Amino acid sequence: MLLFHSTNGQSPAVNLREAFLAGIAPDRGLYLPERFPRFTFEEMAAFAKMPYHEIAFRVLSKFTEGIIPDADLAAMCRSAYNFPVPLEIVNVRIFLMRLDQGPTASFKDFAAQMMARMFGRFLQEDGRQVTILTATSGDTGSAVAHAFHKIPGVRVIVLFPYDEVSVSQRKLMTTLKDNIRTVAVNGKFDDCQAMAKRAFADETLKHIPLSSANSINIGRLLPQSVYYFYAASRVALSGEPVVFSVPSGNFGDMMGALVAREMGLPVRKIIAAVNDNDAFPKFLATGHYEKIIPSRNSLSNAMNVGHPSNLARLVAVYGGQMDETGKIHKLPYLAAMRRDIFSTSVSDARTVAGVREFWDHFQLLLEPHGAVAWQGFQDWAAAEPLGNSPAVLVETANPAKFPDEVEKVVGWSPDVPTNMQASLQLPEDFDRMDADYDTFQKYLLARHA
Ligand SMILES: *Cc1c(COP(=O)(O)O)cnc(C)c1O
Repeated sequence: MLLFHSTNGQSPAVNLREAFLAGIAPDRGLYLPERFPRFTFEEMAAFAKMPYHEIAFRVLSKFTEGIIPDADLAAMCRSAYNFPVPLEIVNVRIFLMRLDQGPTASFKDFAAQMMARMFGRFLQEDGRQVTILTATSGDTGSAVAHAFHKIPGVRVIVLFPYDEVSVSQRKLMTTLKDNIRTVAVNGKFDDCQAMAKRAFADETLKHIPLSSANSINIGRLLPQSVYYFYAASRVALSGEPVVFSVPSGNFGDMMGALVAREMGLPVRKIIAAVNDNDAFPKFLATGHYEKIIPSRNSLSNAMNVGHPSNLARLVAVYGGQMDETGKIHKLPYLAAMRRDIFSTSVSDARTVAGVREFWDHFQLLLEPHGAVAWQGFQDWAAAEPLGNSPAVLVETANPAKFPDEVEKVVGWSPDVPTNMQASLQLPEDFDRMDADYDTFQKYLLARHA
């Protein structure tokens, strides 16, 4: 059975089930597999003819061996991935992968849908209950709320920064009720994340079985490697190495690409495109890491992250060690990192210009996160010619989630996908709180009395 160890190196290795239910390791590190299972070229070539859910099954079964029987996993993949994953042609060898066709119209659905099924299964096996506590900059909260809605044994508490999410993002979280509670915090995403982190470490809350669905959970990372295999199977017909441009905040999405690469997928470059929160591109350039406090507000609001939590994993994959505070105990192999990864910061002005340019040149609509991926790709291509490599730009949300930003640029407002329309009509229900940990602690205690 595959074991998972902590990036901080002070906790025992555990199996996927334990890593998944714990979320974070006891030493506050993040779980990573001790080794990455690998695909042969022939196995990957066969993906070309498989539907998405079948590729998901092939990839995930490498990690779930001995934990979830194959027939059950296959059924979970079929029901989780019952929506399309469009790959639109931008220009000859450049493609746009739209990860926005799930129930909440962002790529967060890919992980949330699978995590909810795994949680439901593990809890039922144990006859246990958990409270999933998640801090969100918008899309995680809605994806998690929808995926876990009415899953037996699970309560969900979502913390979100009131002023930093769009109305449609908010309504996708606040209209569900039942086992889903949302808390609007008068603060920033970092405040929400800090409150959640303190709750996980709080001895007074030890009797409350808390778990996380944030990008720190390994169960979130693995499903996010699947769409890179899928994209390559559709655009790299002879197995040519692919360039992926990924708009990045907490770096869970780009880590999915790195996991795919470690599993044998031919990847030429992973472009980690960030907004004004440029701690990582600076680190990659200089080897010096300085987190950004407070995080900077940008149009691509789901990426307003001053200290990306998955950097601990990224650094570990390249032989280094970074703890949860961002302190580097051992430098990773920077030359290897630079060989595989390119990173660049895209300003709001360039983000807007990217939406406009993409529409003018290609008649394809982007929202701000996708525009960051496009500009990041152009920065890379200016330094290294694309040649014959296929390139895939990752569009992480539906333009209708950012109607104001999009309308300002192209002059009209995108259609709201039918899966989102229902939520926008329902009455909202959420709690409101200052960014104060003691208040939040009392709130949790009162709800679990
Ligand atoms: C969460 C999110 C991102 C950033 O993904 P990370 O895994 O945190 O890097 C990008 N775009 C959208 C729309 C998101 O919701």
